[in-house]
Amino acid sequence: MATVSLQHIEKQYKGNPRKSVIDFNIEIQDGEFIVLVGPSGCGKSTTLRMIAGLEDITSGELFIDDKNCTHLAAKDRDIAMVFQNYALYGHMTIYQNMAFSLTLRKEKAEVIHEKVMEAAKILGLVEQLNKKPSQLSGGQRQRVAVGRAIVRSPKVFLFDEPLSNLDAQLRSSLRRELKLLHHRLGSTMIYVTHDQTEALTLADRIVVMSEAVVKQIGTSIEVYRDPDNIFVASFMGTPPMNFIRGHFEKGVLHANGIDIKLSENNVELLNKAGYEGKEIVFGVRPEHFKLGKRLKFNVEHVERLGAYSLLHGKLGEEAVIVKLQGWTDVEIGQTIDVDYDAKLVCFFDAETENRIR
Ligand code: ADP
Repeated sequence: MATVSLQHIEKQYKGNPRKSVIDFNIEIQDGEFIVLVGPSGCGKSTTLRMIAGLEDITSGELFIDDKNCTHLAAKDRDIAMVFQNYALYGHMTIYQNMAFSLTLRKEKAEVIHEKVMEAAKILGLVEQLNKKPSQLSGGQRQRVAVGRAIVRSPKVFLFDEPLSNLDAQLRSSLRRELKLLHHRLGSTMIYVTHDQTEALTLADRIVVMSEAVVKQIGTSIEVYRDPDNIFVASFMGTPPMNFIRGHFEKGVLHANGIDIKLSENNVELLNKAGYEGKEIVFGVRPEHFKLGKRLKFNVEHVERLGAYSLLHGKLGEEAVIVKLQGWTDVEIGQTIDVDYDAKLVCFFDAETENRIR
């Protein structure tokens, strides 16, 4: 059990002119499940590997339980890491694979047995202990990789895209298992993924990264409902938020081929923040549209997915996606009247792309 504190952590690889992680700050509470999410190359794995001690920290400080671990060797950090490629030893049984790190530490045989059996019970692997990795399914092998981490009773668990080699159904069931495991162990966990569904479903708090920088830290509902900038608003949520760029004047957003008369509370927000006569970006999620009178929407394509329907089309010349609950009778080529929930829309500065609050 441990707190983890990253203070102004930065990474610049030798030979790479650009920093891979810039000014990363977070105070992780004991028992928290933190997910680092962002597109490929944004610096997630580098951050995780610096916490593990597998990469040097270029500048800044790392504390685990108030102990300065910035330059501590990986083996002394009391951390266990589970990778995407769960390289198990093919010639060893599952039991031996799980016991391996304890054997290396020269733990007593009874202690090893107790820990392996406990982890195997938690992970539903008791029946598999005498088998070789090749006799197990992909999901079971990934469970063994998690088991190898559990037997070490580490202070902190680190996961680097552990589910990304598995098919969608298995990913979803292992996601549930990991969440239960976290509940059961109550350990601090830090998890890296590029998959927003994993982030939204697993995390106590999500760290959204882009191009080496932390763009927002918050709970799932905070990053979804209250994004700090266009990057977070577009990265979290499927389909992504619609963005309409335009000129704001006298309560109206003048965009490409359409004038949108904004609601009173939205106009007040923009006026107070000093945006009269300026460029802004109006953001509305597909699911926050509804049938109504405010706007004419030309439907160009319809996807009916059973529980909901996605209407692709244009408001003026602005391409947007509207998500309606259930099955829709709307056809391609139709023009329908839509409205949006004015309480749930977001506005952004057109230049900085930061949220207007
Ligand atoms: P992510 O995990 O978000 O996909 P990484 O942390 O792996 O991103 O990489 C972040 C950036 O650092 C990328 O631009 C990548 O090219 C660069 N990088 C990663 N490893 C090295 C390395 N060993 N040497 C130089 N640059 C690296």
